[in-house]
Amino acid sequence: MATLKAPEIKFTQLFINNEFVDSASGKTFEVLNPTTGKPIVAVQEADKADVDKAAKAAKNAFEPGSVWRSMNASTRGRYINKLADAMEKNLDYMIALESLDNGKPIPQSQFDIEFSIRVFRYFAGWTDKITGKTLKVDGDYFCYTRHEPVGICGQIIPWNFPCLMLSWKVAPALATGNVIILKPAEQTPLSAIFFASLVKEVGFPPGVVNVLPGFGPTAGMAIVEHPDIRKLAFTGSTEIGKMVAARAIDLNLKRCTLELGGKSPIIVMPDADIDQAIQSCHVGIFLNSGQVCTAGSRLFVHEDIYDIFIDLLVKRANENKVGCPFESHSIDQGPQISKEQLDKILDLIESGKKEGAKLHCGGNQIGTEGYFVEPTIFSEVKPSMRLWREEIFGPVQSVIKFKTRKEVVDLANDTQYGLAASVFTKNIDDYLTLSNQLQAGMVWVNDHHVFDTVAPFGGFKMSGMGRELSEYGLQQYTEVKVVFVKHGSEAK
Ligand code: NAD
Repeated sequence: MATLKAPEIKFTQLFINNEFVDSASGKTFEVLNPTTGKPIVAVQEADKADVDKAAKAAKNAFEPGSVWRSMNASTRGRYINKLADAMEKNLDYMIALESLDNGKPIPQSQFDIEFSIRVFRYFAGWTDKITGKTLKVDGDYFCYTRHEPVGICGQIIPWNFPCLMLSWKVAPALATGNVIILKPAEQTPLSAIFFASLVKEVGFPPGVVNVLPGFGPTAGMAIVEHPDIRKLAFTGSTEIGKMVAARAIDLNLKRCTLELGGKSPIIVMPDADIDQAIQSCHVGIFLNSGQVCTAGSRLFVHEDIYDIFIDLLVKRANENKVGCPFESHSIDQGPQISKEQLDKILDLIESGKKEGAKLHCGGNQIGTEGYFVEPTIFSEVKPSMRLWREEIFGPVQSVIKFKTRKEVVDLANDTQYGLAASVFTKNIDDYLTLSNQLQAGMVWVNDHHVFDTVAPFGGFKMSGMGRELSEYGLQQYTEVKVVFVKHGSEAK
């Protein structure tokens, strides 16, 4: 079991061209501990001048004939595996760092870092298996396709899974031979900066990976607008995602992949295994203090089991141990990431009370230090309410009663989002019909929050564009080139 000791912070600078450097402006910003609201450390703050410098380094690293461009694909795979080895060697440290920075319980950080390592290993295995096709075209031509790296990839990630989101973006970009400028979220830059030290330690050529902690409108926007950056991979809110993609496309038609918000439905049919459904519905919303884009934030329960189901949900929520991750390994729920998120969640809870939803438990901040919120359950949530429509990103479960399959499909799809959905039933007809009709990029049957490196992750509608993880995720980091080679047709 990972340590319960808060880690020492080893790196706080920008990482450009394999060097830790101060920002051009000399500015720093404070990273706050969400369990106390007090500063952990000040880190260097990147802005446009630093993005320009990183883009130059990345451009050099990507020049034809550079060490990185000439490297055998299998060697590239070995480097990515070495990164995974280095992360494994520092596993305990990285778990503690993630919990300190984000506030998530130690077992959840452990899951995140171990999954991140798996992501690097998975994509390391792809490097020498990315192939084009030979095509039977008309005429005397040898015709084939090549899958070439896009070039400099700008990657902007959120604070809810800092290391995991880094791995989902960095690993496929490296596997396909790209170079990277990554901006971690301003709330949680520490695991990304430490990761940068491993990039250098294992010997990646300078400029291949650059890490720039900083704020969205400054460092983030400079990445979005940079003319040499060819691809933007963004995870965060739908509002910002739409805006940055529009800008990135407008300026130089950057390839964009977006992983955005969600309002994912969970549907519990009357024949569901109740114990299994209760546990999954609980984890489905309360995991990571509700700060998960696939959170099952609209729970539809069939009228036949509605009352008993709510009683069991409340009992389970009241068992949640909320606290600081370094207190004990049995903490289930940490704080929200920031005062801003805390206020947003409390405001949405108030809206639920005012708009007539029925509060069963929770509904308040816990204490005054840090950003803790009680596990909260509302029922009788209606489509007109903010609780139904807005992404809460907090430990707030909304329960809705339904009668028929047709009714629940219509209600579940009544959202701008389409990230994930889950269905609890033993009836084959119900699960096939519902999983076919739900508008979501991911559907789980008799479980929630299931992810794997080999399975695509991404959403329909305003939950995003493109997919991460898996072979589908890899495709987002290459351009397809077709080559026609004219040749003679007669044997001489
Ligand atoms: P956000 O979208 O503002 O931030 C995500 C990332 O984008 C961060 O790295 C941020 O610095 C960057 N960013 C912000 N403005 C930018 C800009 N103008 N140009 C370039 N980059 C920019 O998200 P947030 O404010 O941290 O959280 C707000 C809401 O977003 C949350 O309440 C939640 O609903 C949602 N959210 C979703 C996810 C997800 O995984 N889908 C993750 C985090 C937040």
